[in-house]
Amino acid sequence: MTESVGGRAVVVGGSISGMLAARVLADFFDEVIIVEADDASYVKSARKRVPQGEHSHVLLQAGQQVLERLFPNFITELIADGSVVADFTNDLEWFHFGNWKKRFESGIVAVQQTRPFLEWHIQRRLRQYSTINIHHNSLVVGFILSADQKTIRGVKVRESNRVSDNDIMCDFVVDATGFGSQFRKWLPDAASQSPMETVKIDLFYATRFYQTDSSKLGWKNLMISAQLPDQPYAGVILSFEDNKFGVTLGGYLKQPPKTDEEFMLIAQSLPEPHIHEFLRNATPISDLHTYRIPSQVRNRFDRANNMPHHLVVLGDAYCRFDPLYGQGMSVAALEAELLGSELRNMKDRGELDTLHNRFYKQLVRITQGPWDMAITESFRHPDISGCRPRGVKLMQWLTRKIYRASANQQDVYLTLAQVMNLTKPSSAFFRPTLLPKIFVQFSSTDA
Ligand SMILES: Cc1cc2nc3c(=O)[nH]c(=O)nc-3n(C[C@H](O)[C@H](O)[C@H](O)COP(=O)(O)OP(=O)(O)OC[C@H]3O[C@@H](n4cnc5c(N)ncnc54)[C@H](O)[C@@H]3O)c2cc1C
Repeated sequence: MTESVGGRAVVVGGSISGMLAARVLADFFDEVIIVEADDASYVKSARKRVPQGEHSHVLLQAGQQVLERLFPNFITELIADGSVVADFTNDLEWFHFGNWKKRFESGIVAVQQTRPFLEWHIQRRLRQYSTINIHHNSLVVGFILSADQKTIRGVKVRESNRVSDNDIMCDFVVDATGFGSQFRKWLPDAASQSPMETVKIDLFYATRFYQTDSSKLGWKNLMISAQLPDQPYAGVILSFEDNKFGVTLGGYLKQPPKTDEEFMLIAQSLPEPHIHEFLRNATPISDLHTYRIPSQVRNRFDRANNMPHHLVVLGDAYCRFDPLYGQGMSVAALEAELLGSELRNMKDRGELDTLHNRFYKQLVRITQGPWDMAITESFRHPDISGCRPRGVKLMQWLTRKIYRASANQQDVYLTLAQVMNLTKPSSAFFRPTLLPKIFVQFSSTDA
């Protein structure tokens, strides 16, 4: 059992994954430096290098729970500052697989805020740690390796106000640089041995924020899910702090809207009129922002045997999910906690040399459920290609039954909400009390 490793750890990238990893590392290292390419931002607005901050972000139950463990009282602080509190099943009007779900109080509480608001709060709590320093305007341009090339000894940093690069030497590095991670470029030998699982979804995201008189709505969130292949568009309205409503439209294998009119037309094409009606009555308070997600990608570092020691890659740099499932930040939080337990389980400091191997094996376990959930749906479209898991047709048959049954079977919906919130594994559906409700109801039409 290791209480302290000592020395210095460097986290590359100071977004959600990086900040949570830094918080965990502060329990084990004397000093933690976050190296972040962006400016120091002390405002609750989107950053240049995190363009997805312009889009609505859902924080799942599992993510909320980790944040509360890492920063006690964190959720209370969010709520006190204006986050919206919603019951996942009662406050969401959800059209899914041809049915509106019956709403009921589940006790699954979603705490809702815009992405920059959440990031600002995490950064505020991080600043209370005297051993964590954030170096802004500092771009990491490579790793420094030991003479035998096996161990990471530091990072090369290009600061915007300096002519020459600066080396930061350290005992441990976390790559939390997001989907654009240069890991494969900087460490080509290790990268060449670690396969990537890729599913090409070519998804667009288009988001605009609105204000409206919420007293007339009768819900806090509204979702019209895609149903591939026939219904490639999805639409979501989420309520956030300051009476803001984020309206996101997404489309698989589709072009994003270029104008507000095109945004309206896509909303109009959804199978139910609610989002289009909302847009007609609400006041826009932001521009329209679009984002393209070509693929879901998971790096199988667990399959390479030459990954550098004293380095772990996590967050979006390790795995990028389909954002419509709202999993990225919550999985990043679980990954940061995993890093903490791997450090805590070390018998002595020598085990730091092999920590990455244990960590990557566990990362596969943590990401498997959310990964399967998203890609199972993707592969309903014949033109979506990529690493198709064995048994996907059976999974699709099963999930269709679960989704349909959850429309009016309360305990099926509750389990679905728990699985989606990453607080229960998908095996939770296989309970003797639940199976008849999943299978009986639609057996005649849905075989
Ligand atoms: C459109 C969209 C919608 C999403 N919606 C949701 C949602 O609803 N719920 C959810 O949980 N997740 C969502 N996600 C995913 C979520 O944004 C990420 O999972 C989350 O931000 C964690 O990412 P990260 O911290 O690993 O990387 P990022 O957030 O991408 O941050 C990477 C950081 O590294 C820094 N950096 C990069 N390169 C360098 C370098 N060389 N040197 C120094 N710093 C560097 C960047 O400046 C940045 O701060 C969404 C993603 C997208 C694209």
